[in-house]
Amino acid sequence: MIDMDTHLNLSVENIANPLLQTWTTPYALPPFGEFSAADFQPAFTVALQAHDDELVAIALNPIAATFDNTIVAFDKSGRLLNRIEALFENLTASETSAALQAVERDMSAPLAAHGNAVYMNASLFKRIDDLYQQRSGLGLNTEQARLLERIHLDFLRAGAQLSVAAQARYGKIMEQLAELTTRFTQNLLAVEAAYELRLGPGDLAGLPDAVIASARQAAQERGAEEGYVITLSRSLIVPFLTFSDRRDLREQAFKAWTQRGSRSPEVETNTNTSANNSSSGETDNLLVAVEIMKLRLEQAQLHGFDNYSDYALADMMAGTRQAVDDLLMRLWTPAKLKAAAECVALKTIAGDDHIEDIAAWDWRYYAEKVRAARYDLRDAEIKPYFPLHRMVEAIFDCAQRLFNIRFTEQPDIKSYHPDVKTYEVHDTDNKLIGIFLHDNFARATKRGGAWMSVYRSQSRIDGEVIPIVVNNNNFAKGEPTLLSFDDARTLFHEFGHGLHGLLSNVHYERLAGTRVLRDFVELPSQLFEHWLSEPEVLKRFARHYQTHQPIPDELIAKLKQARTFNQGFENVEFVASALLDMALHSRRNMDGLDLNEFETEQLTRLGMPKEIVMRHRFAHFQHLFSSSSYASGYYVYLWAAVLDADGFEAFTEAGDPFDPVIAKRLLKYIYASGNTRPPMEAYRAFRGKEPTVTAMLRKKGLLED
Ligand SMILES: [Zn+2]
Repeated sequence: MIDMDTHLNLSVENIANPLLQTWTTPYALPPFGEFSAADFQPAFTVALQAHDDELVAIALNPIAATFDNTIVAFDKSGRLLNRIEALFENLTASETSAALQAVERDMSAPLAAHGNAVYMNASLFKRIDDLYQQRSGLGLNTEQARLLERIHLDFLRAGAQLSVAAQARYGKIMEQLAELTTRFTQNLLAVEAAYELRLGPGDLAGLPDAVIASARQAAQERGAEEGYVITLSRSLIVPFLTFSDRRDLREQAFKAWTQRGSRSPEVETNTNTSANNSSSGETDNLLVAVEIMKLRLEQAQLHGFDNYSDYALADMMAGTRQAVDDLLMRLWTPAKLKAAAECVALKTIAGDDHIEDIAAWDWRYYAEKVRAARYDLRDAEIKPYFPLHRMVEAIFDCAQRLFNIRFTEQPDIKSYHPDVKTYEVHDTDNKLIGIFLHDNFARATKRGGAWMSVYRSQSRIDGEVIPIVVNNNNFAKGEPTLLSFDDARTLFHEFGHGLHGLLSNVHYERLAGTRVLRDFVELPSQLFEHWLSEPEVLKRFARHYQTHQPIPDELIAKLKQARTFNQGFENVEFVASALLDMALHSRRNMDGLDLNEFETEQLTRLGMPKEIVMRHRFAHFQHLFSSSSYASGYYVYLWAAVLDADGFEAFTEAGDPFDPVIAKRLLKYIYASGNTRPPMEAYRAFRGKEPTVTAMLRKKGLLED
């Protein structure tokens, strides 16, 4: 364990700031409960200065650049800032408040400015570049060589080689982008927190008990003495759209959901919203997104590209727009064909309700009916076998069988919310290798979706640093919490990312865990989903929450048969979003861009089925606009899907989903190796061959046999 205290000269007011002290908490977790939002700004100020001082010391070192005094020193720098920033970002995502949001708005630009200044420090870059030019003669091992190349590339991609004037403009662009992406996220959070569709006892037709209970719980959380509330949280609105017999209410909820983030007049306000975000500035996310796009184009142009996609893809496994488009189009046509066939089946059933045309708010509802009829499979029948606590046992057990690690709950460790569970993670020699925080429930202070992040990355340049990893989900809390099969898959998915962080076994922080290329990062997560479907896992852990009986074989068989059901719809939804992301970021001109028009134009060009709406429309497309990480990168899930489907076949071919030899290679080359080797090389080392798309198409039921 390391002590992350850097030696600071703290002023009187900062001496008492808990964020700046040595964290003497267990595992040096943040001192939750001992600091307030007001402590962040002064802590950031000190931490930014401390990082600047460290960088000046590296850059102005009178001794000529060496790998140690420059590259290693750079990798070690900024620890204080990192821990405060990680804490801050985790809290604003998982447990935010008006006070934290205010700090977020105030700090986004200075933090971005600092990030720019780091990578535009000319004397620092000169030392790194000198080393890079002589890299083959430095006697570096593979990981060291990779670190040098990676840091050098980080500097190039952040504008280190631009002229002074261009750098000044570049810095401005990055600051503005930081402010705009923050605004985009906050606007959405405000809309999602404010929206509610209130239901009375007469509005519940068709809803299973569990959905009613969740809607009641949501109403209670919003202070309603009685009645029920549907929010825009995916885990509440999707079940509502799937089961509610009330077509009028489905329409209302669907429109609110798919138009969230844009101030379209069509939005039904069954809300008591004063969706007036406390932030100053634009609250229509479509306009925010256009501003973001203009700045991204300019950013790419400064790098010498004529569109943002080319700039983004230059540092991805895919490499080129052509490679991405080829993959997307390989799915698009078969997905549309399959969706058309699915729609015919929906219409047959909808006909009984005298509905001739399937509207977008009808799809999930009638799909559930088709699913129930065709596979005799109802969500209400499945969920009792998927209580959350059993599925958590399942992910831990799979991790233990594959990678020989154990999770032990530490109920006395204080976290940032009572719902969060803290675990110690030990390896087979009983060595503590990481801390895992599991934050599973939706609440108004948490953003939507599911994600993994870290409070601290693994490394061993300053002694052994064990990672602190968090998984966030947004399940509707119940007594007990019962998951749909999709929810369970999300749990496995995020845990796969979690393992990627926890199992990281590298030397340098820049190469640790999930700090890999974007289109590789979804491989460990998507691959882990496969174990959920394994009959032996289901038999052991999918147990009825009342009778404790294992899930019957026939239900497992039905789940398997139903696996390719509705894949037309799901792939159309997804690929449409990915194609529009690519189309938007490939534009060479953003003048007069109207995102609603652009969406219509593009979807018409692609022949989007009218019954289906993009999985994420631009006004709430957080992958693209909450940061730049997935800009021109929504496709990465599909890219990784090629790898995960192909990769899991290694276990299928071995005839054992826990085959120890393959699991060992999987650990070594994929889960533990971080960014220490090029991704395709890592994949080949694990798999023994290049991946093909066949397994992925087959898994989705999109392969013509
Ligand atoms: Zn993921």
